Amino acid sequence: SVFEYAPAPESRAVVDIAPSYGLFIDGEFVEAAEGRVFKTVSPSTEEVLSEVAQAGEADVERAVKAARKAFEKWSALPGAERAKYLFRIARIIQERSRELAVLETLDNGKPIKETRDADLPLVAAHFFYYAGWADKLDHAGYGTNPRPLGVAGQVIPWNFPLLMLAWKIAPALATGNTVVLKPAETTPLSALFFADICRQAGLPKGVVNILPGYGDTGAALVAHPDVNKVAFTGSTAVGKEIARTVAGTRKKLTLELGGKGANIVFDDAPIDQAVEGIVTGIFFNQGQVCCAGSRLLVQESVQDELLDSLKRRLSTLRLGDPLDKNTDIGAINSAEQLARITSLVEAGEAEGAERWSPACELPSSGYWFAPTLFTNVTQAHTIARDEIFGPVLSVLTFRTPDEAVAKANNTQYGLSAGIWTEKGSRILAVANKLRAGVVWSNTFNKFDPTSPFGGYKESGFGREGGRHGLEAYLDV
Ligand code: NAD
Repeated sequence: SVFEYAPAPESRAVVDIAPSYGLFIDGEFVEAAEGRVFKTVSPSTEEVLSEVAQAGEADVERAVKAARKAFEKWSALPGAERAKYLFRIARIIQERSRELAVLETLDNGKPIKETRDADLPLVAAHFFYYAGWADKLDHAGYGTNPRPLGVAGQVIPWNFPLLMLAWKIAPALATGNTVVLKPAETTPLSALFFADICRQAGLPKGVVNILPGYGDTGAALVAHPDVNKVAFTGSTAVGKEIARTVAGTRKKLTLELGGKGANIVFDDAPIDQAVEGIVTGIFFNQGQVCCAGSRLLVQESVQDELLDSLKRRLSTLRLGDPLDKNTDIGAINSAEQLARITSLVEAGEAEGAERWSPACELPSSGYWFAPTLFTNVTQAHTIARDEIFGPVLSVLTFRTPDEAVAKANNTQYGLSAGIWTEKGSRILAVANKLRAGVVWSNTFNKFDPTSPFGGYKESGFGREGGRHGLEAYLDV
C-alpha cells in the first residue's frame, strides 16, 4: 500500500552517514565555490554527524543556471513521463524509509515513532499524490494547457525536513518546474539523501538542486533574478523579509509561517479523547510544529476534570533517546531553539502564570525540555501570544462559544485550530467563525496530501497540498 512503512529500526547502523557532503548541483555532488563547510549535529547527543558544504552566491548562480537549463526539457516532457519519475521517487522513498527515518531522527532529534509512522509515510504519499496529477493538469480546473513557471527557489525549516521538502518539490516537479532548494542549517542530511534518491530514480540532471547553507544562502536564492517562483516555510519575521525582496519582481510567492493554534474543548467533549488530542496537538515533535495547538481553551465547567486527566496523561510520556521506539518526547532541535523556549517560559513565570511539568529526568547531553503546562494564563500574557515552538501549553478558559471564538481569533496568526464537542452543529458554527487555515474537529494534527494547508493573517498566504497546491506552480 501507498502508506506502508518499514519495521522499527533497531539502531543508527541502518543508515550510512558519510563524514562529509557536497552541494547537489546539476546531478552531481560538488564542493562549495568558496570551500566553506559547516557541521550538523545530533540534537539528542551533540555528536557531530557530518560536515556539509555551505553554498554561497556563486553556488546559487550555478544551481539556478542548471535548473534553468533543465527546465527547457523537463517542462516539455509529457506529463505522463514526469509522473513516471515521481512514482519512481515515491517508491524509492518507501524502500529506503527505514534508513530515512533513522537519519531524520538523528539530524532533527524527533522520536523514531514519529519519523517512521508520520513523516516518512506522508513524504511518500505526497510524491504518489502529485505524480497522479502530472498528466491531468488540463483537468485541474485551470483551463487547458496550464504552463509551469520556470525555476522554483524553495527555502524550508528544520521541524519536518523531509516532509517540507516533499510538500515543495513534489508539486513543483509534477507541474513541470525545476527546483533549487535550501534546507535548514540544522537539518541538511535528509535533503542530501533525497538528492541521492533523485539520481537513483534517473531524474534528469538539474531538475532538482540542493543547496545547504544558512539564511544568507536562502536570501541569495530568493533574490536571484532568474528564479520565477519562491516558496518559503519558516518564521514570520523571515517571511516578511522575503516578501519585501520579492515585491515588484513578478516572482510568484507562497509563505507558510508561524502559528498559535487554539484547541477548544467544550463541556460535552469526550474528555479522554480530548486529552489525547491535546497531547498530540502540543507535544508531537516537541511542539515544534507551526500548526501546534499551543493554546488550550477549555470551558470553565470542565476545567478541573480536564486538567487532572491531562496531568495524569503527561506523567506517562516517555522522554529520552529518540531512536528508542517507545520514546514520546525527543530532543529540541538546537541549542538556539532551546534558549528561545526557555526564555519564553521564563517570561510566562515572570508574568504570573503557573508552571507545571511532570516529574522527568532530562539526559545530561543534548537539548531537552520537559513537557510544560501553564495555567492562570490571560490573553495579555506573552506565552498566550507569541509562538513558543516548543513543548509548552498555555491553558485559558471560556464560558460561551462566542467567547471561545473571540479568544481563539485573538492572535496575529491564523494557521490551525481544534474543536472538541459531541455536537455536530456546534462544530460547523464555531469552525466557520475561526480565522484559521485548518480546523480539526475531535482530532488534531491530521495530514493528508489531498488537503490544502496554509494560513490566514501573519501565518502566510497561498496553499500547499491538494489541487490548490498545484496553483502555486502554474501560470493559468
Ligand atoms: P527561520 O525562518 O529562521 O528559517 C527557515 C528557513 O529560512 C531556514 O532554511 C533558514 O536558513 C532560512 N532563512 C533564514 N533567514 C533567511 C533569509 N533572510 N532569507 C531567506 N532564507 C532565510 O525559521 P525556523 O526557526 O527554521 O523555523 C521555525 C519557524 O517556521 C516557526 O515560526 C514555524 O512556525 C515556522 N514553520 C511554519 C510552517 C508552516 O507550514 N506554516 C511549517 C514549519 C515551520
